[in-house]
Amino acid sequence: MNYADFYRRSIDAPEQFWDDEAALIDWNTPYTQVLDYSHPPFAKWFVGGQTNLCHNAVDRWCATQGDKPALIAISTETNTERTYSFNELRAEVERCAAMMLALGVGRGDRVLIYMPMIAEAAFAMLACARIGAVHSVVFGGFAANSLASRIDDAKPVLVVSADAGSRNGKAIPYKPLLDEAIALASAKPAHVLLVDRGLAAMSRVDGRDVDYATLRAGHLDARVPVTWLESNEPSYILYTSGTTGKPKGVQRDVGGYAVALASSMKYNFCAKAGETFFATSDIGWVVGHSYIVYGPLIAGMATIMYEGLPICPDPGIWWSIVAKHQVTRMFSAPTAIRVLRKQPPEFMRRHDLSSLRALYLAGEPLDETTSQWIADELGVPIIDNYWQTETGWPILSIAKGVEDVPTRLGSPGVAMYGYQVKLLNESTGAECGPNEKGVVVIEGPLPPGCMQTVYGDDQRFVDTYWSTFDGRTVYSTFDWGVRDADGYYFILGRTDDVINVAGHRLGTREIEESISSHPNVSEVAVVGVADKIRTQQAVAFAIVKDASRIATEEGRSALEREIMGVVDRQLGPVARPSRVYFVPTLPKTRSGKLLRRSIQAICEGRSAGDLTAIEDPASLQQIQRALEN
Ligand code: AMP
Repeated sequence: MNYADFYRRSIDAPEQFWDDEAALIDWNTPYTQVLDYSHPPFAKWFVGGQTNLCHNAVDRWCATQGDKPALIAISTETNTERTYSFNELRAEVERCAAMMLALGVGRGDRVLIYMPMIAEAAFAMLACARIGAVHSVVFGGFAANSLASRIDDAKPVLVVSADAGSRNGKAIPYKPLLDEAIALASAKPAHVLLVDRGLAAMSRVDGRDVDYATLRAGHLDARVPVTWLESNEPSYILYTSGTTGKPKGVQRDVGGYAVALASSMKYNFCAKAGETFFATSDIGWVVGHSYIVYGPLIAGMATIMYEGLPICPDPGIWWSIVAKHQVTRMFSAPTAIRVLRKQPPEFMRRHDLSSLRALYLAGEPLDETTSQWIADELGVPIIDNYWQTETGWPILSIAKGVEDVPTRLGSPGVAMYGYQVKLLNESTGAECGPNEKGVVVIEGPLPPGCMQTVYGDDQRFVDTYWSTFDGRTVYSTFDWGVRDADGYYFILGRTDDVINVAGHRLGTREIEESISSHPNVSEVAVVGVADKIRTQQAVAFAIVKDASRIATEEGRSALEREIMGVVDRQLGPVARPSRVYFVPTLPKTRSGKLLRRSIQAICEGRSAGDLTAIEDPASLQQIQRALEN
């Protein structure tokens, strides 16, 4: 099929297009309207239709391939590997669903999942989907304050967690962080369900904390029928960083998401039921939701959940998994590939990778060197794809399942079906011509699978993401981009104060707020600085209250470590700045706005830009001096 025609149809006749796509999933009750866009920018897909994500991911396949692998949970941290067939997965999900019901979880209730990459995390997500509870998975690398703000926003009735995660063989206790978060939060969950892997001792709160294995033992034969949900009921909330310190709860629906995943599995990932998909992300991120848990299963594929580092026990570990489980489609992030490129190539070459058909990379810009290197090593297409937590599936890529159009180095590809992507001039709102830099926007309605709203705050959804130009309502991605004459886009970085560290999105405001809580910090600026491996690294510039503490090299180092410790404890090591520099002043505009971009430019050895608006030009020299010392 010709991709240009396929795409055009999705834009010119979206209702017909998505009506056809909706046949990829099972509906218990057919929808009465494909799209209701009577209240823009809120789009309702498949109105009146009843379906269920868990049914489509699990039960549906039990009928035809119940004994085939569904979930393969591999941990090189605990040296365990367990394969669950679709039938076994359904049994575990039904047990978990019964446990949740026993703990009082009902349809529409929120369940917060704070877990390492273990099978029970997938059981819990699917169990929520089964009974119509709304899960909110919080990345295990986040710490107490991050967790507390998400608990207060989602107000979960239940938290599912574990004794500990593990990294490089070292247990990372989760329970103390969770207890601290619940103590900080005002919305206290009624219950905490805890998987105990025996990695770290746990204290338990009587009446609140429940042991997973013990409760499971009482529900071994549980049968929990699927709760059919109206397509627009919420399926989950996933928090993501923005320009303010308060994370946004990206809320997704049920039917639109299932259809979008089924389509993207077919057209982007060329899925075949019975084959194996391996996404190396974490369930705490959107890739984990879409392409570890739901997407592959909805397509009838086995999915691999991997707990561990890409280089332990050796840098060949991922490739040994590909060989052993005959992985056909793999999904990772450029940072991981850059890390692997630094390792001796023998580790990769010793495995038989003939099953692999393509490698998909997303989350951050894919540089040409990395792309070329991995393409040469693997001998399969490397397919970049650009999207966001908000959209749930690729905005830009190459849909090889529709037509084998060539990829272009440095470009994530062309607009994906359903997305009316435009580039707008930042100041005038006019559409950009070829090779002209603009803001990447999507004209409404957003296609199925994209966020419905910001959880609990429709106004924030409208105010944050939407603007109107020439009577057209557009969604901003907050990314700069250019498009060449053939429609290939190139992403040039964020327009806002969000940074990208190893494919993880972090808000500089959140990190600044955390650092400011140190008693000796009066002001701080955090910027993202280009990094060869991890795309960006967070770097902080702080003004201290008591300068005597930074009079010596030892004093400076000690304070820097303390500040990093504060970020570790509050937000988690994922948000820790790589350096904290101390400066007497920070560059600001006359109206007092921090000039983060000028600081970033200096850090990257570029010109600080137009300095007419700056209050105190000497502050930039102080940044330079701090970097040199
Ligand atoms: P997240 O919501 O955490 O997935 O982050 C989304 C952001 O990551 C986007 O807005 C981009 O800034 C960046 N991003 C994601 N995928 C790509 C890609 N393939 N190329 C360049 N940047 C990307």
